[in-house]
Amino acid sequence: MSTEKKHIIADFPQGGHNHAICISDALAMAEKLCADNSVRLTELRRKVLELVWSSHKPLGAYDILEMLQEQRGVTAPPTVYRALDFLLAHKLIHRIESLNAYVGCASPNHLNGGQFLICKKCGTTAELDDYDLAKKIDDRAEGLGFQVLHQMIEVSGLCRDCVGDK
Ligand SMILES: [Zn+2]
Ligand SMILES: [Zn+2]
Ligand SMILES: [Zn+2]
Repeated sequence: MSTEKKHIIADFPQGGHNHAICISDALAMAEKLCADNSVRLTELRRKVLELVWSSHKPLGAYDILEMLQEQRGVTAPPTVYRALDFLLAHKLIHRIESLNAYVGCASPNHLNGGQFLICKKCGTTAELDDYDLAKKIDDRAEGLGFQVLHQMIEVSGLCRDCVGDK
């Protein structure tokens, strides 16, 4: 953990927001990041990233495979897993452990594992990416003689769109 970058989201993504902007920003960032790291965002990797970003709801590998097959015909599962592994390795997506599903990262490059707010009703997920919070956990753990290797905080709750009708 080294960057001081603070990218704290301003609002939880709500229904009706202009999601096309989220997708185009994410793809542009991915292209830049891959170019900076001299790795290739192949057509398939880009497509998988775009599918993960089709909403703010984490998608399982199988859902992604099905969507790909609809769009481009038979696609072997390992192809999808390899693309997901690539995107994970370059921190363009995150794996939400509790859902066994993937969600796009709005600020790739951050080094902490991330803190995720997950609506238990609609599945919409937002990442806090709060450096101070991650640092605090690291420091507290270190104080106890525990070395943190990876942080992944998943917070369950209800988004504004869902809080009304539970
Ligand atoms: Zn969006
Ligand atoms: Zn992230
Ligand atoms: Zn919701």
